[in-house]
Formats: sequence, C-alpha cells, structure tokens
Amino acid sequence: MPSNVPIHNWHMYDELTGRYTFPCPVQGEVRLPLSDFRVLERLPGTAHPAVYKVTFACACGDDHEGLVTHDELDWAPLAGKDTRYVNLMTAQAEDAGDELLDLAARRIRAGQWPWSFFCYPEERARPVFPSAFRVLSAGEERVGVAVECPACERTSVNLVTRPHVDVPFYNDRRVDVIEHIFCADRHDIVAAFRAELDSGAFDARRRDLAA
Ligand SMILES: [Zn+2]
Ligand SMILES: [Zn+2]
Repeated sequence: MPSNVPIHNWHMYDELTGRYTFPCPVQGEVRLPLSDFRVLERLPGTAHPAVYKVTFACACGDDHEGLVTHDELDWAPLAGKDTRYVNLMTAQAEDAGDELLDLAARRIRAGQWPWSFFCYPEERARPVFPSAFRVLSAGEERVGVAVECPACERTSVNLVTRPHVDVPFYNDRRVDVIEHIFCADRHDIVAAFRAELDSGAFDARRRDLAA
C-alpha cells in the first residue's frame, strides 16, 4: 500500500452532502461527490475490507489519489456511517444506520436500483454499485462513466447526468451509450476512453434505462 496516501480511520462520506472527504496537499482536505472521481482501482491483496485507490479531480486544480474502503464506497451513500438522528418519541439521538440500510435493501428488492448503467455487450440495463465504476470523466453537464459489468465483466461507457452518479436511487431515464466494446486491459480502457471523450468523436446512442 502506498505510504503517502493515508487511509482515513474516520468516516469519509457525509450523507447530508453526498460528499467524500479526501486529503489535498494544498487545501488540507477537500469534499467532493462521486462524479469528481476519475479512476477507481481495487488494490490487490485487500479483502477485509477491500480498499480502492481513487484518483480524483480536486478543487485545487490537480488530480490526487486517496483510498476508500468498499463499505464507504458502496454502502455509506445508502446507509450512512454513524448516522444519528433524533427520535421524536424519546427525544434521544439514535443511530439510524441499520434502518437506512434496511430501507435501502427493501427498495432494491422492490426493483429500485441505487445505481444503474446500460451494458452495451448485453444490450440491457444493469444495477451496479460505485465499486464497479472504473473511469469517470465529467464535463460541464454530463459525466462519462466506464462501468465494469458485474454480470458479464465487460466494460461499457455511458454518458449520464451528474445526479445519476452522485444521488443514490436517482437514475436517468435515458442514457447515451458508447457503441464500442472496450477490451479487458484496464490501462487500454482508461487511455481509449479519455481519448474518445476528449475528441468528442465517440459514437453514442440513446438507450432506455427505466423499465
Ligand atoms: Zn488538491
Ligand atoms: Zn454486462
């Protein structure tokens, strides 16, 4: 594990703002939404918990790297961490984490997806979690997101709105799908994806995500 990227032992996701806290060498720390992530990479050899190295676009103008655990990445936006609320009946502060997690599970069982994308090789919408995001590239209005499909393990690129990435259970009804099957090597994917987005010459078609 790189020693210059300290892992936070406190909660880095703030569910009120939907932002993650990361260290910045210029500003000390910064808070940013998922759509400011640029590259996600699972660190080999990490399992309990799995740890992801995140390259993010910082407000200071540079890209930095930080570490985030699998729980913080996928579950904190749904359940919060150390989520406290005031129970109106008892006027006590209580931990709402389990209830939020339960609510999220019920919504998922009812067919609502916290995140989704259109898998191009399979020609279908799939539910997904942020840990399946591989590369993101945010423009003024839209975000290009390369997602490794949890079902077929191939990578598709969708062009979506920022809330589609940042707000759990908000999904664009329609997304643009780049009509291109990206090969398995992730470095190729990153390079090809960035080149296509930069050129603006990608071939994208609208697909329905909503059933
Ligand atoms: Zn910075
Ligand atoms: Zn797939």
